[in-house]
Amino acid sequence: MDAREFIDFAGAAAEYIADYLTSVRDRRVLPAVEPGYLRDLLPEAAPERPEHWRHVLADVERVIMPGMTHWQSPRFHAYYPTGSSFAAMVGEMLSAGLGCIGFSWAASPVATELETHMMDWLARLLALPEHFLNAAPGPGGGVLQGSASEATLVALLAAKERTVRRLLEEQPEQDAALLKTRLVAYTCDQANSSVEKAGLLASLPMRLLPSDAQGRLRADVLQRAVDEDRANGLLPCFVVATLGSTPTCAFDPLPELGQLCQRERLWLHVDAAYAGTALLCPEYRHIAEGAELADSFCVNPHKWMLINFDCSAMWVRDSHQLVEAFTVDRIYLAHHKQGLAPDYRNWQIPLGRRFRALKLWLVLRLHGAEGLRAHVRHQVALARHFEALARAHAAVHVATVALGLVCFRLQGPEALTEELLAALRTRGRIYVVAGAAEGRLVIRFCICSRLTRAADVDFAWEEIRQQAEAVLRAHGL
Ligand code: PLP
Repeated sequence: MDAREFIDFAGAAAEYIADYLTSVRDRRVLPAVEPGYLRDLLPEAAPERPEHWRHVLADVERVIMPGMTHWQSPRFHAYYPTGSSFAAMVGEMLSAGLGCIGFSWAASPVATELETHMMDWLARLLALPEHFLNAAPGPGGGVLQGSASEATLVALLAAKERTVRRLLEEQPEQDAALLKTRLVAYTCDQANSSVEKAGLLASLPMRLLPSDAQGRLRADVLQRAVDEDRANGLLPCFVVATLGSTPTCAFDPLPELGQLCQRERLWLHVDAAYAGTALLCPEYRHIAEGAELADSFCVNPHKWMLINFDCSAMWVRDSHQLVEAFTVDRIYLAHHKQGLAPDYRNWQIPLGRRFRALKLWLVLRLHGAEGLRAHVRHQVALARHFEALARAHAAVHVATVALGLVCFRLQGPEALTEELLAALRTRGRIYVVAGAAEGRLVIRFCICSRLTRAADVDFAWEEIRQQAEAVLRAHGL
């Protein structure tokens, strides 16, 4: 393919994407396919001879679309949003087009410097503590990881090294390998699955502590666990607090957890993957009160900030702790400006890294802080609209409401809510998933797509109401 053909191909693909997003509302949000469906639509082997791009692009509709769950549909209300905007798409294309791997400053200075700068823009927009800024005089700084899962694992691995280093300073006769086997970490039973997985990957027990009635981890519960473990000869080292939990968007109280972590010398990582974007708006900044006590803080612009996966922003109080934990040098990685700018390979798991800052730069410039704040406020208002509709129905119990997420169930036995969920899934006209709140099964309804309007919320509510009433009727209720 030459440059001329690329221009035609990319133009046609852009047109296809624009048409797709304009009309995605009309597609069934959940695909009606069974596992293995694709085998019948594709040949057994890759083509021997090159095909024309027009032929391949035409196959997107025939081969790809039948198996698509339309995450960008305004009728997608499952999980949390996955960001999307034209600005971010072009940023992604530029990143692919420039095709650099900025693992060190020298490997592509702009990849590092734009990221460093964007992380400061973002930290200021979210009103994060000054010490997280790359531009601040201290050792703090920000980096883009691929996912919140990686950010948690990176923080956990750095905490592990920091704790062992400190213990060895106190008692040099100790064996580092043995100390590592006694480390233990904590989070709430409401934390995202990726937090428990970080414990598995780091070979370190991650204790899931019981949440209170609002789905929060309280300091007294954490303190009891820490005391118990110390009494049993274990070495507490790491805590993950969540701002905006996945099941119900609950907020762990950072001030009390942070104070405990400082007292006990535990690394506090804050996972604000979804809810962190709300900090763009001054009226939500109270949720991050206590963030100054955190050692690391993560927000996913790829969730609620109109940026496509992957783009996970992570700030640390002391970047030296990442560098000390992750640096492995080779002669081919060394460069003449080493030490004068971050070498981000030492802040992350892989060596290679994508030029993610480009899409962040484009989105921040093309939407502006104002545009992003308007997006958050609009989505929260839509969730409030859904809440009002749900609360007005006598058979529906609204269990929790926070930001863009409303969790509800049908009054009465659990089976009714289970049947409602099954009916909604089978019909595939909207997509919602299960959660748990107040010790019961709930349906999570989240405003996800940037294309969702009030009429889509009305559509979703009508679908839920009709199916709920059918379930109730079937039970003679
Ligand atoms: N943390 C929270 C609170 C989440 O809701 C999610 C995903 O929904 C994650 C972490 C995982 O995010 P990622 O896919 O970026 O690893």
